[in-house]
Amino acid sequence: MTKFEPVIGLEVHLQLNTKSKMFCACPSGAKSDLPPNTAICPLCSGQPGALPVINEQAVMFALKAGLALNAQINLKSVFARKNYFYPDLPKGYQISQDSKPIISGGFIETQNADGATKKINIARAHLEEDAGKSMHGQDYSLIDLNRCGVPLLEIVSAPDMRSAAEAYNYLVNLKSIMQWLDISGCDMEKGELRVDVNLSLMPEGSDKFGTRIEIKNLNSFKAVKDALQYEISRQSGILSSGGAITQQTMLWNEDKAVTELMRNKETAQEYRYFPEPDLRPLVLNGDFIELVKKTMPMLPAQKKDFYIKTYGISAYDAALMTSDKDISSYFDEAVKQGATAKPAVNWIGTDILGKLNAENKEISSCPLKPKDLADLIGYIESGKISGKMAKEIFAQAWSGAKAVSELVESSGASQVNDEAQLEIWAKEAIAENPKAAADIKAGNSKAIGALVGSVMKKSKGKANPALLNKIFIKLIS
Ligand code: ADP
Ligand code: MG
Ligand code: ZN
Repeated sequence: MTKFEPVIGLEVHLQLNTKSKMFCACPSGAKSDLPPNTAICPLCSGQPGALPVINEQAVMFALKAGLALNAQINLKSVFARKNYFYPDLPKGYQISQDSKPIISGGFIETQNADGATKKINIARAHLEEDAGKSMHGQDYSLIDLNRCGVPLLEIVSAPDMRSAAEAYNYLVNLKSIMQWLDISGCDMEKGELRVDVNLSLMPEGSDKFGTRIEIKNLNSFKAVKDALQYEISRQSGILSSGGAITQQTMLWNEDKAVTELMRNKETAQEYRYFPEPDLRPLVLNGDFIELVKKTMPMLPAQKKDFYIKTYGISAYDAALMTSDKDISSYFDEAVKQGATAKPAVNWIGTDILGKLNAENKEISSCPLKPKDLADLIGYIESGKISGKMAKEIFAQAWSGAKAVSELVESSGASQVNDEAQLEIWAKEAIAENPKAAADIKAGNSKAIGALVGSVMKKSKGKANPALLNKIFIKLIS
């Protein structure tokens, strides 16, 4: 039986988080949670005679993406009309880019499960405008044009992926890069990142691609993986039994976990692309590109190196602190507020992420602020509170009602560092437990635990354990 190899290419639509829309001054993006049809103007509601103006910020965001994707920035790109009729598209066409996109080429390096890196090439990325939204009721439909004209960057990969897992890795990496660039919210549930999947099968060992199908309506990366796996086995079945695949657009039915036919695929001719007559070609000069280069933030790989070099933390810790942009921002802020790097990594990596995980929260909504973490670490380092007390303060501060400093100062939760007081307690403990003292003298240093424990009880957990250890050794030897 012939074995088939999948060939996968992905088209990712990214909603750019610019202040205004792609070609008019209306507010844009998820930030404008405005009532339906209030963020519109004559241009984006498709009225005759209104003229588009290219949004400079959207162009800058496209360039940032291009630079981060190791791509070529095209100094001249051309906007084109993509014609189709749909009620949420009042102009009857979408302004997009066709044969002359702003970005060409480029690649993303991904890590496969076996640790091998794989380069996935990017074919192109172009700027375009979004359409509106339709909502369907029983016997009526509603149209909201607020999303009409919101800028999108469509990033089209080469057909370089060979498994559902590779497609998944590519998406995770792409999303992470875009988040670090801060050019999109990247929230799939809000439609800020939308994925179309293209898939074909070819006999293993062949280099001649088969007929592809396209799957739309995927609302999570998991759905992308599931839909691909389903469709790979469906097509293998058809091809194995001598059947053929026809080029189609399918939908992923999440509930039934099956693909369904949406329509027979349009070809580019059916969109009757032609250059947008109301816009001149977009011509960029070198100065503008240099300006954008200056605003490029550190990307995860660079940031990781920076952490290792600057804070002397391990590669493992640095990877953990850069696994997510918001984790990295939290860590940066805690350090800025005075936290020592290594303990900050430990608290974030275990206590904070652990608790957030348990509560199904993101670090961006962490009730404990970076300043509080910095304070907590400061109190431990100055000896004001013990590690054990810090854990209690942490638990109390988690509600977010009181700052760490407030909790420490008001609770009188001050560690006892007064050596005279510690010595009084230590002497009492030895008198109450002469056997432990004798054991220590005989060389069993473990017995010191019992004595320290007894002083902890006397001091209600406030004795400084490190000082106490020293005092016991001094008293007993
Ligand atoms: P269209 O204009 O019809 O959308 P594109 O050339 O823009 O076609 O390609 C769309 C996507 O489909 C790209 O991500 C590309 O990598 C992918 N693709 C093209 N041919 C194939 C194929 N035979 N199998 C799988 N994916 C493909
Ligand atoms: Mg396409
Ligand atoms: Zn408008």
